[in-house]
This record gives sequence, structure tokens and C-alpha cells, in this order.
Amino acid sequence: MKKAGILLCAGSASRMGFSKLTTPLPDGHTALMRSLLALIKGGADEIVIAVSEHTRAHAEHAVIAFSTPTAPAMRVVSGGQTRQESVYNALLHTDADVVAIHDAARCLADAELVKACFESAEQYGSGIAAAPVHDTVVQVSDGCHALERESLLLTQTPQAFLRERIVSAYALAKEQNLSATDDCTLYAKCGYEPHFVRNEKDNRKLTTPGDWEQVCAMLRRNGEAPTQPTGAMRIGYGEDLHRLVPDRALVLGGITIEHELGLLGHSDADVLTHAIMDALLGAAALGDIGRLFPDTDERYRGIESILLLRQVYAHLSEHGFAIGNIDATIVAQRPKLAPHIPQMQKQIAACLELAQDRVSIKATTTEGLGAEGEQKAITARAVATVFQRT
Ligand code: MG
Repeated sequence: MKKAGILLCAGSASRMGFSKLTTPLPDGHTALMRSLLALIKGGADEIVIAVSEHTRAHAEHAVIAFSTPTAPAMRVVSGGQTRQESVYNALLHTDADVVAIHDAARCLADAELVKACFESAEQYGSGIAAAPVHDTVVQVSDGCHALERESLLLTQTPQAFLRERIVSAYALAKEQNLSATDDCTLYAKCGYEPHFVRNEKDNRKLTTPGDWEQVCAMLRRNGEAPTQPTGAMRIGYGEDLHRLVPDRALVLGGITIEHELGLLGHSDADVLTHAIMDALLGAAALGDIGRLFPDTDERYRGIESILLLRQVYAHLSEHGFAIGNIDATIVAQRPKLAPHIPQMQKQIAACLELAQDRVSIKATTTEGLGAEGEQKAITARAVATVFQRT
């Protein structure tokens, strides 16, 4: 059966006060990216991402970052005014047999849960992630009655269904003006019996700043150091320079740094990340970033280079290479970079799924000499080792 994931990224962030779906979490990914990865790794053959104008650019760039030859087809479509409209519209963009609808704000849901929901839908017509209730729930509308805990479930996402059934449920809802806050209640209203996938793992939805803190703390706790790769070692070298100009952001190693000048380029001109990408590609003899991401390609205009680094990492993995370590130097007269280096290391390491002690970043000046010294440009140089898996 062909399986599709529908990722919902069209909601407003009104209760959070900042963009919860597009702000990086401690693992270097955004909630949107984490949820997209869960669908990719959970076995979706294609993915439809419903976005708002606010999340569109980030979603398009995440699609580029995760588009490898073995990745599912991904497309970005406009969401609607309501969640229900977004889902219905996205459903019309796929012809898969089974669809898993997932809220991007549930960024802790993992590939295993997605797989379990798909499997349940293939077997029983639907697979709805749901958590058992451990607290006592009382109904207070008429006195105070405790509800039977065993008969209660908290529904979550992903929620997977046979597409034909959920499309007919949505069509009926539209016709009869029914509304529901999730898909399984619409499905049930149309006479189908939902099948639940019990999930005991934390699958909270990013709703309040408190949720954000909890998710960050959990990701920090779970930060696992990957093991040292084995195989034949190879070394690569990369170098890049971008001009410093007014009215551009200064982005280095995926971090935006306060400065009166920024780097000029087709992408965000993150010179450090460019040098690292070329070092990695060089070590694997897989060309360079100019070949992989031509600056004549409009898809890469303004793209965060850290997302391209993610794609370079995927490219290397597909060719059987694991990354050993990276050592880079940024050559800049100003601003002072030392305070920003730990954050750059963290960002690069997270993007490449490396332990932080395998990413070294240094900065130096040229004592006022040359293009860097005169603050006309910033240069970055990097070496990287990769291991060819045998
Ligand atoms: Mg460059």
C-alpha cells in the first residue's frame, strides 16, 4: 500500500509568542524538521506539507535539506483558515492508499510511532496515536463525577487512515458543516470505528512556553554521543570567502551575529558552513557545493546554509561515508567571534549528528592586513576527516 504523510504547519503561534515550528531546538533541528524526519523515517512514500505564509520558506528549505535520492517525494501546499481546511486540502494532493496526518508541533513523535500508526491503518482502517489517562478525570458540569479511567484516551497525532475513508469523512463534514478538533472524531462521526495505537512516550504538543522548555530539557537529556566511525580514513579541505557589505545579516556556522556588516551571497553566505561543506565533499571526492547547489538555482536563494550542510551530510551517508572530525578557522578582523564559537560548534555538530568534541572552530585576525584585515571580506578554511564504511 502506498503511504503518505500529511504534515500540518499552518497554525498560528499565538499562544507561544514566537515561531515554535521554525525556531531551532537544542538538537539543531526545528519542530517542523523533526516532525518531517519522523514521517520520512516512519516509512511515508510521499509527504504533503501544509504551510502558512509564515512557515512556507522554512518548509521549502527543509524539503531541500532532506531531499536525497532515497527520500520520499515531498511537496509544500498552502494550508487553510482552519486545521480542518488544511487537512482536507492536503488530502486532495495525494493518491496514496493510507495517509498519516501529523501536527508538526508534536515534535517528539518518533518514526516508530509513525510506523505503528501506518501498520494499524493498513490492518484496521485507522491507527490513531493516543495516550492512556493516568490521572483521575472528573466531570464538573453537573456535580462532580469521576470518569472511568480505563474508558478514556488522550488523542494525539499521527492519526493514520485509509485515504478513501478519511476523504469521505472530510467531504461529509464539509457538506454538513461539521467541525472537529481532530481527525479521529470526524472519522467516528461518519460511522467508522477508530483503532488506537497506545503511546506511553512523551508526545506533547508545543503549545505554551512551558511546553517549549520541557521539550528543550528532554532533548538535552537525550543528547546521545554517536560512536566513532570505522573504515579507511580520508581527509578533505575547503576554503571560502565572501564580501562584507552593509544591510546584510552576518551568519557564521548557522548563528546570526550582531554586526554592522554582513556577508554577501546567493544563500545566507555563511562562509564557515560553506568551507566545512567543501571539506566534507572534498574528503569524499564528491565535488563541491557549487556543483551540488548552483547559485543559478532559485531554490537556494536566501537559504540557510546549515540546511545545505544537512543535505551534504545525507549525500555523504548515501555514498557510504561517516564523518570523523572537523577543524575550521574563520579569518575576520571584526567582530569578536570568540563568544559565539561554542554556539557555532553546537549547531554544526547537531546538524551532522556528531559529538561536539569532534567539531573544532577557531577564529583569527590578519592584523589589519589584506581583504579580511580591511574588513572587506571574511574567509573560512576547514579540514575534515571521513571514514569510508567497508
Ligand atoms: Mg560561499
